Amino acid sequence: MQECYDLAIIGAGPAGAAAAIYASRAALKTIWLEGSFSAGGQILESSLVDNYPGLPSVSGTQLGEAFRLHAEALGMIPERCRVQAIEKREDGLFYLTSKKQTVVSRAVIYAAGASHQKLGIPGEEEYAGSGVSYCATCDGAFFKGRTVAVIGGGNTACEEALFLSHICEQVFLIHRRDALRADAALQEQVKKAGNIEIVWNTVPIFIMGSQTVERVILSEQITKESWALKIDGIFVAIGTVPNTELLKGLATLDEKGYVCAGEDTVTSLPGLFAAGDVRQKPLRQVLTAASDGANAAVSAARFLEA
Ligand code: NAP
Repeated sequence: MQECYDLAIIGAGPAGAAAAIYASRAALKTIWLEGSFSAGGQILESSLVDNYPGLPSVSGTQLGEAFRLHAEALGMIPERCRVQAIEKREDGLFYLTSKKQTVVSRAVIYAAGASHQKLGIPGEEEYAGSGVSYCATCDGAFFKGRTVAVIGGGNTACEEALFLSHICEQVFLIHRRDALRADAALQEQVKKAGNIEIVWNTVPIFIMGSQTVERVILSEQITKESWALKIDGIFVAIGTVPNTELLKGLATLDEKGYVCAGEDTVTSLPGLFAAGDVRQKPLRQVLTAASDGANAAVSAARFLEA
């Protein structure tokens, strides 16, 4: 007979790790699944996380590693497995299908995080990995002493621009409006950096090159004039989209694809809990993802007891 778990946790970012820690403390028979090679989630791409209480100036890799080690010390080890379908059958159990196995559980914590939003312009896909990047921490070193553009005006774009300003000769921060969305402190640092030039009211419309990226065609939003900027690389930092494809038709999602669930992480489908960046909420941070993970494990334990 197929083994049945109390709880399956999908995702090993801060939300999944916190859920695993709390599930272990609640003595739930748990399986923890992660689709990527390394546990840690999106913070693995952050050179610096400076707002997690108690751990100032920690790198994303260090923080992700600390979460994983904490969970592992409690016997929770993420298993590499990309879930491809989730089904709740008439027997009341969840069936999670992947290429290698079907996992059966009584409850599910869905903490699959978010992916980089794409620009959706010509050349973006063609030059992905050949000059188009979504992660300065991962790819910045390839552009040492060169000229790059960062697209976006939020915290991520400003952090990426600052990180790249220490490596590259020149960084252009291309923003579609005339004011940045990023926190005031970050904006200040960007404006002080000697080699970051902010290009206001401008969007990229075409990425061009030969073997690798050589220029981006920009469009000024007010005059509608377009012009070419010579660059060696382009870093896209225009936000994220939730990884909630698997939940379509299973639980209620909002118009942007976020799972409708309150702070208790309870979704419209009994037994399914949504934690971290997949959930509809006002602030998506490592801290709020970890908080969701804790709430999700407690909500799942209550559901299982009922
Ligand atoms: P974000 O805050 O949503 O910012 C996205 C930026 O991209 C905005 O400036 C937006 O312009 C621009 N944008 C969106 N679509 C675009 C398009 N198609 N073309 C050109 N520009 C476009 O995303 P984020 O910076 O990735 O941050 C996501 C969340 O994580 C936020 O809550 C953020 O505060 C948080 N975060 C926090 C930290 C930190 O605390 N250290 C670090 C990183 C991220 P508009 O401004 O015009 O909308």
